[in-house]
Amino acid sequence: TKYIYEFGPDKTEGDASQKNLLGGKGANLAEMAKLKLPVPLGFTISTECCNHYFDLNGRFPDTLEGDILKAMANIESHTGMIFGDPENPLLVSCRSGARSSMPGMMETILNVGLCSTTIPGLIKKTNNEWFVYDAYRRLIMMYSDVVMEKAEQIKPGDGMGIRLNLEMMMNNLKNDKGYDNDTDISTEDLKALCERFKKKIREDLGVDFPDDPKDQLMGSIGAVFKSWNGKRAVSYRRIEHIPDCWGTAVNVQTMVFGNMGETSATGVAFSRDPATGDNKFYGEWLVNAQGEDVVAGTRTPNPLNKDTKNSQNKHLPSLEESMPQLYKQLFEIRNLLEAHYKDMQDIEFTIQEGRLYMLQCRVGKRTATAALNMAMDMLAEGTIDEKTMVCRLDPKILDDMLHPIVDPDAEKTAVKIAEGLPAGPGGAWGQIVFSSEDAVQWTKLDKKVILVREETNPEDIEGMRAAAAVLTARGGMTSHAALVARGWGKCCIVGAGALKINFETKELRVGTRVFKEGDTFTLNGTKGMVYQGRIKMKDALENARFKAFMSIADKYRAMQVRTNADTPADAMTALTFGAQGIGLFRTEHMFYGADSDKALFLLRKMILSKTHEEREAALEELFPFVKEEIKATLEVMDNLPVTIRLLDPPLHEFVPQSRENQQEIADALHIDIEEVFKRSEQLLESNPMIGHRGVRLGITYPEISHMQVKAIFESCAELIKAGKNPMPEIMVPVTCNEKELAFVQDIVTQCHEEALKTYQIDALPYLYGTMIEIPRAALIADKMAEYAQFFSFGTNDLTQMTFGFSRDDIGSFMNDYIDNAILNSDPFETLDQEAVGGLVTTAVELGRRTRPEIKLGICGEHGGDPESVVFCHKAGLSYVSCSPYRVPIARLAAAQAAI
Ligand code: PEP
Ligand code: MG
Repeated sequence: TKYIYEFGPDKTEGDASQKNLLGGKGANLAEMAKLKLPVPLGFTISTECCNHYFDLNGRFPDTLEGDILKAMANIESHTGMIFGDPENPLLVSCRSGARSSMPGMMETILNVGLCSTTIPGLIKKTNNEWFVYDAYRRLIMMYSDVVMEKAEQIKPGDGMGIRLNLEMMMNNLKNDKGYDNDTDISTEDLKALCERFKKKIREDLGVDFPDDPKDQLMGSIGAVFKSWNGKRAVSYRRIEHIPDCWGTAVNVQTMVFGNMGETSATGVAFSRDPATGDNKFYGEWLVNAQGEDVVAGTRTPNPLNKDTKNSQNKHLPSLEESMPQLYKQLFEIRNLLEAHYKDMQDIEFTIQEGRLYMLQCRVGKRTATAALNMAMDMLAEGTIDEKTMVCRLDPKILDDMLHPIVDPDAEKTAVKIAEGLPAGPGGAWGQIVFSSEDAVQWTKLDKKVILVREETNPEDIEGMRAAAAVLTARGGMTSHAALVARGWGKCCIVGAGALKINFETKELRVGTRVFKEGDTFTLNGTKGMVYQGRIKMKDALENARFKAFMSIADKYRAMQVRTNADTPADAMTALTFGAQGIGLFRTEHMFYGADSDKALFLLRKMILSKTHEEREAALEELFPFVKEEIKATLEVMDNLPVTIRLLDPPLHEFVPQSRENQQEIADALHIDIEEVFKRSEQLLESNPMIGHRGVRLGITYPEISHMQVKAIFESCAELIKAGKNPMPEIMVPVTCNEKELAFVQDIVTQCHEEALKTYQIDALPYLYGTMIEIPRAALIADKMAEYAQFFSFGTNDLTQMTFGFSRDDIGSFMNDYIDNAILNSDPFETLDQEAVGGLVTTAVELGRRTRPEIKLGICGEHGGDPESVVFCHKAGLSYVSCSPYRVPIARLAAAQAAI
C-alpha cells in the first residue's frame, strides 16, 4: 500500500482535493507546493496508514519504516542535509492533520533529530548556540509530553504531567534570574536547563530521553497517530460530529526556524479579517519565535500591519514596518492564495534569517458576520457565483447573527472591568468560574457561566463548550481558543491583560478590585469589553446585508419553510424571519402561558368532569377562549396555511397540583375536594407519552374535538366575512390506524356543515390530515392517506417510538451513547436517517401511492436542524416547520440542499 506522498519544488504527489487521504494540512501543503510557493520539502503519511496503525493495535505497517527512510533520503538529497549527521544535520517537524481542521486538538513535534551527535554540528553550521539549545529544550518539552507520556498513557504521578513540570522549571529559572521573556534566557542557562529536563524525565517517566534521531522520528509519528484518540481530540469530534474512522495524517517536513534571531520570525495570518470579514490582510507574528508560540498565546504577538493594530499590540512594531520586503512577498502570496482558493485563507508562515516559508494554508474559520460579509463581497467582486455564495454560510452559525448582543444603551452606563480582544462575537452574561470542570458542572446545574482562564488552552474544550462565554487574560486573535470559539459562534474575549487570576483561591483581581467565583460578568465579544454584573441583552438588528443574502438563497430553495407557533406573537416573529405559514399550532399551548389562568381553570374543570353533561358545560365555557386564540393566529397568518393540531397531551399533565387550585375546581363543579383527588388519581398513568393522549382523547371524548373544530371553522367564517383568507389545516395527532381518522373526520365534516349554515357562506376551505409519529402509521401510510390530505411527520414522537427512547429521559444515558460512539449524535437533535428516516421515506412513498397530490411536511424539532433539512429535501417533502428563530437556518439549509 502506498502510505507516503511527497511534496516539494520538484515532485508533488497530492493536491488540495485529497483531504480525505492526506488530511487538510497535507493536501494544502501539496497544493501550495504545486503553486510553486516556498513550502519546505516534506511528505505526508496518509490517514489510511493511521487507520491501519490502529487496526494493528498501535504497530506500524511492515513497509512503513522503509518507505519513510526512502522519503527522508529524498529530502536529504534535495537539501544536502542528512538526518542524524554530525556535520550538516537535517531536522524535521511532525504535524498532525485531519480531514477537517481541529485547531489545537492533536499533536505537533518540532526539531526532531536534535541529539548529542547533531547539536555540535548545528551549532557550528549556524554559529548560534543559543538557537540550538532553544530548539533542543522545545523538542524535549514537546516530545516528553506527547510521545513519552501521553502516547504511552503514563498517568502523571504528582498530578501535573511532565509538560507542566518542565514548564515550571523553566518559569522558576526565569524568575530566579529575572528573565522577562524566553528569549532573554542565556545560552548557558538553556544548556543547563536541558540537562535538568532530561534528568527530571528519567526520574518521572523512568526512561531516558531518546538520543537517536530515528527513534525520535518513529516515536513522533506514532504519537501523532495516537493523538487522534487523545482526550481533547475525542471530545472535539463528539461535539463536531466528526466520525472516529477518519484518522489523522502525519506531515513530516524539513524544519525552518523562526527562532534563529532578529531576522527570523513566525506568524499566523488571515487573508481577510475573520471577525468582520473586511477585505484586509489580518495577522499576528513574533520575532525570534517558533511555531507554537503565536497560537499558544503565551506571548502577546505583534500586529502584521496597521490593520491589525489593536489595544493590546499597538505599541509593538508590525511586520510591514520591521520587514517590509518580506511583508510584500507575504502579501502577494495572500493575493495568490485567495485568487486560487476563492475563499478566505488562514496561513501559517515562518521567516528564517530573512527568507519566507509557507507552513500551512486552509480555509479560515470566521464569525457569522464575517462569513456573510465575505460571501457578499466575493460575489460582488465576481470571485464566486450565487450558488457558491449561498453555500458559504453554515446554517448553524446563522444563530449568532440572530442571537443577542449587549444592549448598546445599557452598555453606556455599565461598569467596565477590563478590555481584551474581540475573539468571538455577540454578548453573554454569566457567573465566572475558573476551570473547565467547573464550567461543565455548573452548567449541568442550569447555571450560566463564563469560563475565565489565564491563557487559551485546548484542554479546556469541554468547559468552553459548556460556558456561555470564554474570557482569557492572555493570547491573541489567532490563539486556539479564539479559533474554536469563533467556529462555534461563541462569545469570547482573549488577552484581557488587566486580569490577574488566582486559580487556587478562585479569585480574579483587576487593579484593586477583587472578584470571586460565582460573580456575574457580562461580555461584549464584538467589542472585547468585560463588564461587571448582568447587562441587558438585545436581539441583533435585522441586517440589510443578511436580508439580501437570504433573498438570493431563497431563489434556489425547493421546500417551503413554516414555523411551529402557538400564539399570534410567535407567528408574527416567525413572519419577520420569513416563515411561509404555520406547520404546527399546538392547541394545548394556549393553556400554558402566564395569561392563561382562566382558560387553564376551565380546561381543568373540563378534564375533571365526570358526566357527559358536566363536560359539555365546561367545554361551552372554554369555547370562546379557544376560538379567540385560533382566530388571532389565523389572522396574523392571513393568506398562509396554518396547521392546527387537535389536543395532544395526556390529560394528567393538566391536573391541578396545589391545594388551592384543587379547592377552586371542587367549588366550581360543586363536588367535595376528596372527589377531586379521586378523579385526579384516575387520570394518572404509568406511561403517559404512550397513554391516553392525541387522537385517543378525541375517541373517548368526541365533544373535545368537536369544540376545537367548531372554534376553527367559526374563526375562519368570521375572518372570511371580514374579507380575509384563512387557510386552516386540521391535524389529528398520534394516530396509528386509519379508522381513527375516519372517526374524527365525521366530527370535522359535521362542524363544517354547521358553520356553513350558521354563517350563511358558500365555502369554507380547509384541509384534513394527520401527524405521522407512530411507526405503525408510517407503515400503513397508504391507508392513512385515504383520509388524510396531508401528512406532517412528528419526528419527535417518531424518534421516541422508533428507538424506544423516552424523549423526556434521554439525559441520563445519551452522553454515554455518544461517548462510546454507539450513536454519532442525539437522534432527537439530528434525524436518524437509517431507521426514522426510513419510516419517513416509506410513508412518503405509500402516501403518494394512494393520493399523489398529498401534501408532506415535518414539524418535529428536526425541521430546524440543517442536516435533517437536507434529508427532508431528498425525501421529497414540500415543507419543513421549525421554531421561529430557526426559520432562517431552515431556509438556508433548504437552499443549500437544493444546490
Ligand atoms: C412530534 O412528535 O414530532 C411533534 C411535533 O409533536 P409533539 O412534539 O408536540 O409531541
Ligand atoms: Mg408528537
